[in-house]
Amino acid sequence: MPALTRAEKLEILADAAKYDASCASSGSIKRSSLGTGGIGSTTGMGICHSYAPDGRCISLLKILMTNYCMFDCLYCINRLSSNVRRAAFTPQQIVDLTLDFYKRNYIEGLFLSSGIIRSPDYTMERIVEVARLLREEHKFGGYIHLKTIPEADPDLLTNAGKYADRLSINIELPSDESITRLAPEKSGPHIRKTMGTLGQRISDAKAERKSSRKAPLFAPGGHSTQMIIGADESDDARVLTTSTRLYKGVGLKRVYYSAFSPIPDPSAQLPPVAPPLVREHRLYQADWLLRFYGFGVDEIMTGAKRDAAGKRHLDLAIDPKLAWALQNREHFPVDLNRADKSILLRVPGLGVNGALAIIKARRFGTLRLADIETLCRNVSKMLPFIITRDWTPGPRLDDANLYAKLAPKPKQLELFAT
Ligand code: SF4
Repeated sequence: MPALTRAEKLEILADAAKYDASCASSGSIKRSSLGTGGIGSTTGMGICHSYAPDGRCISLLKILMTNYCMFDCLYCINRLSSNVRRAAFTPQQIVDLTLDFYKRNYIEGLFLSSGIIRSPDYTMERIVEVARLLREEHKFGGYIHLKTIPEADPDLLTNAGKYADRLSINIELPSDESITRLAPEKSGPHIRKTMGTLGQRISDAKAERKSSRKAPLFAPGGHSTQMIIGADESDDARVLTTSTRLYKGVGLKRVYYSAFSPIPDPSAQLPPVAPPLVREHRLYQADWLLRFYGFGVDEIMTGAKRDAAGKRHLDLAIDPKLAWALQNREHFPVDLNRADKSILLRVPGLGVNGALAIIKARRFGTLRLADIETLCRNVSKMLPFIITRDWTPGPRLDDANLYAKLAPKPKQLELFAT
């Protein structure tokens, strides 16, 4: 069989990487190669984003080193038993590709993952070698996100953190039982232990940098993970409980949710169809409530629905904050001129920026509805839940049809839509 060209390998390995959602590159530090003789720079803002055909955000140069893999995770298109075209780049080829693309202004960084070849240590060594060559030989100042392999030697993970802006380890599934069943070579407790070690190193490095600006960096953008949704029977309550455990227990910066995509020649243990993408969207909204709005999982799940099997899922028709508010109407209406930030953040339609703007503005006078309309974007959604100097929702809040009135109306599909 003729050897694959660089373009053919790139096509295979970029396509194989698109299933990994843990690629957002926000949280990077400012770094510039100006004056170092190298190339590249990055800013504190997110870089290197593109969009997959289904609308999800992915990095532009997001590739696997190889899609060969000695593991056989049933949900993965690159698993050992999968009948897909295989390809592999050497570390030097990935370095060349990254620099070529960078110089052409196609990308601002690299997201690198890999199937496991020979052994976790061998694979991790090669991943680290790419980052080392870029940083040390080429003084590359762009963004680097490395996927790490939990089964690899901890020293290799330390080396990865020296060069990368962000590291990630995929937890893959919401429960240990599902990991054992669908990814038999992996272990949930071991993955969490490795995440904990990374989290500790990241926080130690941050503390050292506070005492000395010369202290070495270690994955300054933190570490993240991906959880596949809908490949097992875990409900949203379980998914969010696992996320909370990871945020609190191992210092994770972000959990990315990825709706399971059916793969060719699937195992009978996998569902035949993908979950609705809106489920992934609702989980991201709930995750936001956990991280920035002071909600607990139990609170979020008060607005959940039970399916025929008794599983608790977020309401797909409305966002989780509105679902919570409708189930807890005794907490409303909220007086926007008096409530503290934690209460304001419970109001449907009112985000963190809006709450802060209200707190700032009310120092100068009592706010009217027209003032709120200048400060916040989604006032119509807030109306049944707020009081201002000249507005009260009256009996709206007790309306038995409030859910139907606030839920988006179903759209009639067009017969000739393309
Ligand atoms: S280890 Fe990673 S690449 Fe290999 S089969 Fe499992 S999920 Fe796929």
